[in-house]
Amino acid sequence: MRSVLLTGIKKFEIKNIPLPEIKEENEVLIRIKTVGICGSDIHYYTAGRIGSQVVDYPFTIGHEAAGIVEKVGKSVTKVKEGQRVAIDPAVSCGVCDQCKAGRENTCRKLLFLGCPKQLSGCLCEYIVMKENSCFPISDSMTYEQATLSEPLAIGVYAVERGMLKDKMNAAILGAGPIGMSVLLVLRTMNIGNVYVTDKLNYRLGFSKKLNPAWVGNPDQMDVVQEISDHDPLLMDVVFECSGDPNAIKQGIELLKPGGNLVIVGIPEVDEISFPIHELRRKEITIINVRRQAHCTQKAIDLLQSGKINMDFMATHSFTMNEIEKAFELVSGYKDNVMKAFIIIE
Ligand SMILES: [Zn+2]
Ligand SMILES: [Zn+2]
Repeated sequence: MRSVLLTGIKKFEIKNIPLPEIKEENEVLIRIKTVGICGSDIHYYTAGRIGSQVVDYPFTIGHEAAGIVEKVGKSVTKVKEGQRVAIDPAVSCGVCDQCKAGRENTCRKLLFLGCPKQLSGCLCEYIVMKENSCFPISDSMTYEQATLSEPLAIGVYAVERGMLKDKMNAAILGAGPIGMSVLLVLRTMNIGNVYVTDKLNYRLGFSKKLNPAWVGNPDQMDVVQEISDHDPLLMDVVFECSGDPNAIKQGIELLKPGGNLVIVGIPEVDEISFPIHELRRKEITIINVRRQAHCTQKAIDLLQSGKINMDFMATHSFTMNEIEKAFELVSGYKDNVMKAFIIIE
């Protein structure tokens, strides 16, 4: 089969490699149809690493995918041959203390698709996954929509972790695909005002389609001051989705006493300092989000029912041969890109 191999910084090669085989009874061979390009893939492309996760070349990246079941292992019951599926890229062990506590996202032996030294990614024609990672989709759902259930699931989980109640106000700092997923989920709820910030004005344009109370660019204005002018009692929950340490600081300033800071974005630095007295006086709760747990089906249901429509975020599609063009576009934030896909033919 053909596979996209990352062979160096900003270097791809397309090679023929052996077809993966079903080795365990609960495994499924999936023919990949669509792969979404994620910010983490871009880190591997431009830097060859995310923190201590360093790529050993050659390596196949990619973890957002949908496809069609080609073959199933003996004990598989969740899917059958010919079924169209969304893929949850996380593979948990099912037996450790974390898995037993329902915290599969922090499994002691967690393996993730397209993550160096864990599992080879999905930028190729076929992959083998456990049946637990396969989620059947309806005939009306496109492969692009099914692929978008992966970032949406993180939005669903982040909102659950944020514990918003009716009429509460929230701010989303960073309007990339994850920040937008949080906003889409908030829009299905009966909450108060939502404020959105991003350093890219075109991304604020995307968020405006969902009618937030206000949007602003922190490079062009004092966003804390502006939001405080609108809502002097400040925010109940802030979702930090940018990974920018300055946004974490703004998030703390934007919270009212007793507020929740939900950290979803992945910073490039290893350590960040916090204004401890402000956190203490306001009794702020900091909540971390590690990918997601038990939210893939919820995300698919939200998309299938039409409660959430993410089609406007699917801005670009490329073939496998156009892989470099696709990654240059996404890494450069060119042509108002929100989510780009590789269509595997
Ligand atoms: Zn991702
Ligand atoms: Zn486990």
